[in-house]
Amino acid sequence: MHEFNSEVEELAKEVLAYSLHRLKSDPPLDGPRSAEDLFKEVGNTITAKGLGGHQALEVFTSVLAKACISTDHPRNLAFIPSAPSEHANLFDLVVGASSLYGGSWQEGAGAVFAENQALQWLIDLAKLPSSAGGVFVQGGTIGNLSALVVARAQARKKHPLVTRFAIACSAEAHSSIASAAMVMDVELLKIEVSESGKLIGEDVASAIDAFEALVDVRVCAVVATGGTTNLGIIDDIAGIGKVARDRGIWFHVDGAYGLAALCAPSVRSHFDGVELADSFIVDPHKWLFAPFDACALVYRNPELAKEVHQQKASYLDTLHDDSWSPSDYAINLTRRTRGLPFWFSLAANGTDAYTQAVEQSITVAKQAAELIKNHPNLTLLCEPELSIVAFTVNGWKIEDYAKWSESLLEKQIGFIPYSSHKGQPILRFAIVNPWTTIADIEFILATL
Ligand SMILES: *Cc1c(COP(=O)(O)O)cnc(C)c1O
Repeated sequence: MHEFNSEVEELAKEVLAYSLHRLKSDPPLDGPRSAEDLFKEVGNTITAKGLGGHQALEVFTSVLAKACISTDHPRNLAFIPSAPSEHANLFDLVVGASSLYGGSWQEGAGAVFAENQALQWLIDLAKLPSSAGGVFVQGGTIGNLSALVVARAQARKKHPLVTRFAIACSAEAHSSIASAAMVMDVELLKIEVSESGKLIGEDVASAIDAFEALVDVRVCAVVATGGTTNLGIIDDIAGIGKVARDRGIWFHVDGAYGLAALCAPSVRSHFDGVELADSFIVDPHKWLFAPFDACALVYRNPELAKEVHQQKASYLDTLHDDSWSPSDYAINLTRRTRGLPFWFSLAANGTDAYTQAVEQSITVAKQAAELIKNHPNLTLLCEPELSIVAFTVNGWKIEDYAKWSESLLEKQIGFIPYSSHKGQPILRFAIVNPWTTIADIEFILATL
């Protein structure tokens, strides 16, 4: 029945050899090409008879792979890049080879058990009660949406006569919060941040009270950001958490990028108040050295999530006993056991290695900020609170930023698209890769 014939065996060797090569060597930066261009080179790869594994692999390795920017290159500091550990990447191969079903305990018990231990590490770091639990979903966007849907269900229970709800967040909150509000068809109450770039508890209190007094809408969730994506600024989590608690409103902490630093003693206190969260997210694919795509979504009381997210169908009845099925805790049913590469790396390397690696990014960010402050052409936007360093180039217009960024990629030096802050173009280094050294930063700064 198993058709692992000699031809497949050969192909297995080729695939593993390529994987090993990619894992062992310094990643190339590479870059995008147009669809026309790619078509000219590879044509239509989907044919009635098939190309055969060898040929299809060749198309990928020699053309298609090179048209993808390596997110783990040490001078790819764009958006939030990624830096999976060798252990995590290797275990992704195992996950791929094992056909694990991660939706239910019945089918995936062993894998789900391991994923839950990895979640427990995050739960303990956040100091949530031991009853907390959750699931690894595809990304922060789905994590935020899944949590906010539960928040609204709670608000509906409390306010059965209210028909309109709103999500309160900062003006600097990630775009996925606005996207969740749109999908949920709820209002978005955006609150201005203080001078420091942080959303402050008092401002949240007055904004919510004014909003609810004026319009016939109740706030069903307050979102604090534990490390903004653009600048890595952490909101006043304790203050906001208290405001939400006092009003009986669900408190969600979006820490897709920053909550990784819960394991870093040098900044842990900046997250004080996260223990008040009804839910939080953190993406191991951002700063916890796991491959795409993995977001840890955690609830203080997972039973509330199950009430909302458990899918009911006759063919699913056998799943609904008291066991822990990950599909019950988010907008998902079938799921890849995407938390396993993270679990394996954490289990193999130990949590101290994580602390050390995250601290290292923070240190490199601080050193980069010093270099920028001492650079004649550059102005640091703000002291990095985590591992994002933002700055401007004196006298540059947006076209200059665009040209520089394009040429940096063309010369295969680095990938650093410009961003913006308060309507002005900026550059930012998002440092999450332990292989990014201060020498890499110097190399980039030498071009400015
Ligand atoms: C990246 C990010 C998200 C979205 O996460 P995805 O995994 O890209 O869906 C949400 N919130 C914050 C703060 C982020 O940095």
